[in-house]
Amino acid sequence: MSQPGIPAPGGTITGLQAQNGAASTSGSPYTNGPVPNTLMSSQMSRSQGYSSHLPGSYPHLIPAKTPLNPVLGQSNYGGSQTVSPLSNYQGPGETLNRPPMASSMVTSSLHSGPASRMPPPASQSPAATPMPSGSFLPGVNLPPPPPPPSNWQNNYPSTGSQINHSPLVTSQSTVSGNTNLTNHQYIFSGDPSLQTSYIKSGSAPPLVTPPLPSTFQPGTPIGPPPTGGPPPQTSSHSVVPQPPFNSPVSQAGGTSDTNNGSMVAHNSYDEIEGGGFLATPQLTNKNPKMGRSVGYSYPSLPPGYQNTTPANPVGTPPSGMPPSSLSYPRGPQTFPQPPLGANHLTASMSGLNLHPEGLRVINLLQERNMLPSTPLQPPVPNLHEDIQKLNCSPELFRCTLTGIPQTQALLNKAKLPLGLLLHPFKDLVQLPVVTSSTIVRCRSCRTYINPFVSFLDQRRWKCNLCYRVNDVPEEFMYNPLTRVYGEPHRRPEVQNATIEFMAPSEYMLRPPQPPVYLFVFDVSHNAVETGYLNSVCQSLLDNLDSLPGNTRTKIGFITFDSTIHFYSLQEGLSQPQMLVVSDIEDVFIPMPENLLVNLNESKELVQDLLKTLPQMFNKTLETQSALGPALQAAFKLMSPTGGRMSVFQTQLPTLGVGALKPREEPNQRSSVKEIHLTPSTDFYKKLALDCSGQQVAVDLFLLSGQYSDLASLGCISRYSAGSVYYYPSYHHQHNPVQVQKFQKELQRYLTRKIGFEAVMRIRCTKGLSIHTFHGNFFVRSTDLLSLPNVNPDAGYAVQMSVEESLTDTQLVSFQSALLYTSSKGERRIRVHTLCLPVVSTLNEVFLGADVQAISGLLANMAVDRSVSASLSDARDALVNAVIDSLSAYRSSVLSNQHPGLMVPFSLRLFPLFVLALLKQKSFQTGTNARLDERIFAMCQVKNQPLVYLMLTTHPNLYRVDNLSDEGSLSVNDRTIPQPPILQLSVEKLSRDGAFLMDAGFVMMLWVGKNCGQSFLSQVLGVQNYASIPQTMTDLPELDTPESARIITFISWLREQRPFFPILYIIRDESPIKAIFLQNMVEDRTESALSYYEFLLHIQQQVNK
Ligand SMILES: [Zn+2]
Repeated sequence: MSQPGIPAPGGTITGLQAQNGAASTSGSPYTNGPVPNTLMSSQMSRSQGYSSHLPGSYPHLIPAKTPLNPVLGQSNYGGSQTVSPLSNYQGPGETLNRPPMASSMVTSSLHSGPASRMPPPASQSPAATPMPSGSFLPGVNLPPPPPPPSNWQNNYPSTGSQINHSPLVTSQSTVSGNTNLTNHQYIFSGDPSLQTSYIKSGSAPPLVTPPLPSTFQPGTPIGPPPTGGPPPQTSSHSVVPQPPFNSPVSQAGGTSDTNNGSMVAHNSYDEIEGGGFLATPQLTNKNPKMGRSVGYSYPSLPPGYQNTTPANPVGTPPSGMPPSSLSYPRGPQTFPQPPLGANHLTASMSGLNLHPEGLRVINLLQERNMLPSTPLQPPVPNLHEDIQKLNCSPELFRCTLTGIPQTQALLNKAKLPLGLLLHPFKDLVQLPVVTSSTIVRCRSCRTYINPFVSFLDQRRWKCNLCYRVNDVPEEFMYNPLTRVYGEPHRRPEVQNATIEFMAPSEYMLRPPQPPVYLFVFDVSHNAVETGYLNSVCQSLLDNLDSLPGNTRTKIGFITFDSTIHFYSLQEGLSQPQMLVVSDIEDVFIPMPENLLVNLNESKELVQDLLKTLPQMFNKTLETQSALGPALQAAFKLMSPTGGRMSVFQTQLPTLGVGALKPREEPNQRSSVKEIHLTPSTDFYKKLALDCSGQQVAVDLFLLSGQYSDLASLGCISRYSAGSVYYYPSYHHQHNPVQVQKFQKELQRYLTRKIGFEAVMRIRCTKGLSIHTFHGNFFVRSTDLLSLPNVNPDAGYAVQMSVEESLTDTQLVSFQSALLYTSSKGERRIRVHTLCLPVVSTLNEVFLGADVQAISGLLANMAVDRSVSASLSDARDALVNAVIDSLSAYRSSVLSNQHPGLMVPFSLRLFPLFVLALLKQKSFQTGTNARLDERIFAMCQVKNQPLVYLMLTTHPNLYRVDNLSDEGSLSVNDRTIPQPPILQLSVEKLSRDGAFLMDAGFVMMLWVGKNCGQSFLSQVLGVQNYASIPQTMTDLPELDTPESARIITFISWLREQRPFFPILYIIRDESPIKAIFLQNMVEDRTESALSYYEFLLHIQQQVNK
């Protein structure tokens, strides 16, 4: 067939065979030919509804980008929220809640940097340039504005959409400070010599050793205070939030769609976390063109504190002291600070501490099989080991570039995205928790003291983000671990990049809220048909005592069809009392005080209700769904406290506000344009913002076989910091694996850790600026993420730019601070700090690239692009991200122009991962992916931590019919086989084997036709191939070592993640095999290039 826009198959096929190796183990010739090959004897192929849309066939669509502006107020579908001055609530002249901002109203073009390369003219031989345009990245030079929307970073304001919508936050800081915290308690448990073992994670109140007097007396068993005594004003260090800066009330701008007046005072957690600013009058932004910038907007510092250069030339720096520390006056005693700073950047100019392999340049056309056989490890920043060993774990905090370019110009040149990927509330085995009335933070920028600050002497520390010199508070002089006075640098806060603080009352605007759980159930005929209520109610009954909480926990239930049903669970009732409200136009709450009840006091009534609920609607004929009114009612009910709302929906809402109409047209599924990725109403987003304002998060469980417009419904979770769960075609009888998955995930959902009324702020070193956030949240004030709930399974991403030259800086740091209320009612702050070196050459930027983080960030950006422009535009931009960066590498780093496709070792998997993204459900073309499934995949891109995003994008493939204990892991007496990871190509399969594909949310075990008898009988428990059931979703537990090995391996894989992947065992005739083949990223499908073809295409573009 002739396919426009890709390298002609006929032209490349020979090379393809040669490169692929023509023969496989079974002797059939394999090419990555257009039709699934003979090995798989597929029945899919043409019946799958593939269109001939090819990834390369879209260049003509490009010009459409400019006018594709999302509907006002709905542009933020993708869950990213861009911070730009223009998108912040109000026009010039209106009051801002932060003085610095007022002076930094800039145009989008100034803020967002240079424009991207424009698409080549259409006349440029489309066949030869199949994947043009649509870059994610700023171009090299700075062309004059206005920037074309094809630039990633420009797509926000120029679309005319308002990205941030300001809730009305009035700003009375009613600090209601009742807290049980005792002042001056340093907490740790276990062996004090282990620096991370002060306390185990979470829960029980830690040991208090020793309780110090509330006024610390330095005389204890410890050394004397330094001569000269404490600094004159110990009290000058203050953790009290700066009250004035929020005094002007931020008004929602005229464009805000959230201006409904429902926001009330106690939501201003902004100031509680401490903000980044002091509202001092001198807070004028020196350079208004820079716009809002976390790194830039710090208050002006005394000049001497800015980028302190050695004022005291003492010759060569003493060991362990960075040059910047030389200016401190000689203290009374020598001060053994752990080494930090420039001296300890090893080989900083050449990345010489990289493994030699890391310096290789690879010709991917010759060496394209670069996938390691073990899980890909993140690159290690090129830091001195003393610094690196203190650094934040990459599981929690990762940067796309582990060497930060010192200027935006250098970053632009590299054409790689700069951003962070976070998993801030991940379940941790070890988490140091510190309680102390004094949380030491920078007086200027409110950074928490961390391992990467420098101590000028015992009494002063210099902030690693804004360079302000701060006093060490007296209390901080005592090290609770060693019980030694005078060791501020050995305190846990300075020894751990990940730490949690018990927050004193200054961090509260109201008493910590109780855990409140409200369940909202669809009980229409359709819902009852699926049988889901049984599962949910049973799961709740089983886990009622494991819901995170304490004696204050509250619970409530609402059900709805065409009417709304409330349940009075007041203590003392003999049975739950149902109250039906049929007026869905103006919903009121009957007896609000009895609907959300104390779980302990009303437990029996709750259990009664859960036992009867599944049967109560058995006979219902009501098909209508008044979801919107039910959500409004639930919101009203929860407004006074905040909490978690769990909504279960099985169909398109049809009644009242928020009613939706079907808009999926099956024959358009394959088209890359004209698909409905944007919400059809802003009702759900508005309601979500109201919820966010009242500290309510909404989690949506969609269990539906029909189209339910997840693009619209999902907004309720996205902006309220909830999560979306999707179980397509859920049915209690017809779809047992979905039921199993639902039950397992529900259990995790109900029992996992939860944080309430949370906010998160990410700070970075002066000169860097964060401008776009990805994830489920609402950006409250410029850079404060509002998270009514935070859960341990959510990931976030941010994009950054370099706004000021970092030439004088050797190290930069990023710090995320998550302030939340635990289910036990404690206010806590979890802080992660990541430190990275600054690099000055393009080669170093490339050497430090983290290809997984880059791919993950690009995926987030591509979701936004799909929504704000089009899917084809997003796909173009993904491809161009590879072309642009590799072109930059070729032209600016490599000296001799090799004809191949030359890539730095760090990016050896970049083309593969981008190709995998193009084939991922979010961005694929030409398949019959349902719209809701595509939307859900996009939600997952936004909300999943990087590790799972990568697994769903590029699955792991293992051969499992010959598992051995060689190289196995030993965990808790279990021996877990570790088979090598194989490339995703049918070349790697053979008919006499069995192969497990782990695609994150789903696992597929493909059994070859000639698979050995022993595997069939000892693992699958069947006599022969023909007797493998058509649908098999579980492995029998047989009493054989082979069975034990594979079951252990699969369970181990499942244990690693917070969701439950379904396992399908498939043989050749299985319909699931089509999905298995679709995940073979390196192979060609009718609608997508093979990896080799893709590389050829990239090479053509790069070498032009
Ligand atoms: Zn600071």
